[in-house]
Amino acid sequence: MDILINQALIVTMNRDRAVIPRGYVAVREGKIVDVGTGDGLSKYVSEEVVEGGGTIVTPGFICAHTHLYGILLRASVWFGVIEPPTDFQQNLQRIWWAVDEAMNYEDAYASALMGAAEFARTGTTMFKDTFSGPNAIDGVLDRIKKGVDEVGIKGFIAFEATERRSRDEGLRGLRENERFISRYNSDPDELVKGVFSLHASFTVTDDLMVKTKELADKYGARYTMHVEEGLIDVYHNIERYGKRPFERFRDVGFLSPNFIAVHVVQAIDDELELIKQHDVKVAHNPMSNMLNAVGVPPVPKLIGMGVTVGLGNDGYIFDVFENMRSAYLLHKVHLKDPRAMPPLKVVEMATIDAAKVLGVDGHTGSIEVGKDADITIIRPEYVPTLVNEETVYGHLVNTFNGRDVWGVLVRGRWVTKERRLVNVDMGKVMEYVHGVAERLWDRMLKMEPKYKVEYLKL
Ligand SMILES: [Zn+2]
Repeated sequence: MDILINQALIVTMNRDRAVIPRGYVAVREGKIVDVGTGDGLSKYVSEEVVEGGGTIVTPGFICAHTHLYGILLRASVWFGVIEPPTDFQQNLQRIWWAVDEAMNYEDAYASALMGAAEFARTGTTMFKDTFSGPNAIDGVLDRIKKGVDEVGIKGFIAFEATERRSRDEGLRGLRENERFISRYNSDPDELVKGVFSLHASFTVTDDLMVKTKELADKYGARYTMHVEEGLIDVYHNIERYGKRPFERFRDVGFLSPNFIAVHVVQAIDDELELIKQHDVKVAHNPMSNMLNAVGVPPVPKLIGMGVTVGLGNDGYIFDVFENMRSAYLLHKVHLKDPRAMPPLKVVEMATIDAAKVLGVDGHTGSIEVGKDADITIIRPEYVPTLVNEETVYGHLVNTFNGRDVWGVLVRGRWVTKERRLVNVDMGKVMEYVHGVAERLWDRMLKMEPKYKVEYLKL
């Protein structure tokens, strides 16, 4: 064996959701080759042995929706100079579309480096990202890929095409995704691949949606879009098309099992039925929904209907444990029902269900023989109560945080070990990225704050 994780508590997330209280995981050539109970050393000789007293082993966590570039805006001075947004639309106008305009190629690379480092440090081994920026389109995905590859985790990346400013820009975004997908998606050795991405239904035409769906079909790729995050999305569609967003999608043939709808906060029951009928996947971002004050999506209802929902962070907080905790709590307070969102379901949304959302559950998302060795090793310094097979989901959701992550394997290679990133020097990354963020903020401060954005008449 290359690596044997031994005598640890193993949360497999396999079909039976088996938890092994004292077991082992054997890794060879990047794959999980055995998972069992007891002392693995009585069975195997291994080059490296990770002894597991007090160790919890989970599948590498998966983020179903992020924006790596969001990390550059953390605690930005920009928030102090603009008139605070009062709703979702103003949030886009005053914050996100200003960031987009200021984004350059170096920002794309630096944020990918820092975002991937944050993920790796806190236990996430795979994500789906979409980048936006009208001044950094052609070739930008190569820069993002470079940042992620330097850290060593897996990801799907995309340029978020939008026709908000012009039709041509939308097509350029789509072409960038096609270029990247045609180059990387069929290579089994690549860790970073592509998906197609559109911003939101109120900033794209039917034509761009149809073209995106055709290309996604051609390459067998996932495609994603923010849907009904704010009410503007609903009103825009009703005003221009006389239909709610999912009705419009159905009528242009946009719905399919490869579509990842992000947010669906405002969706009504008829639309949930369409999601279910077409096996559309959903990415849920509870911390972003709270931050942007857009409302709470009907996630427990979707799950009850059998829709696959994965947990995302929407570019906000990268620590999966904080996102799980938020998903766990948000629906309880919203529905005034403490039974909403049991811990196991929350962990599923961040592992095997997120893998299903991204279409990669055949090789990651659980600890099972034959899958890639994408594994997170948690070693909390302190736990208030017993951790065992009955309590572990409760602890994953209530107790642990990203700082408890001791190690992360991606395809059997250490990305984080002994709480430190293996492939990059975090001190140097921080120094570099802080400088990049400062320059980005300077550029934004020189911009005229835009309190109104002219729309293309879609
Ligand atoms: Zn998003």
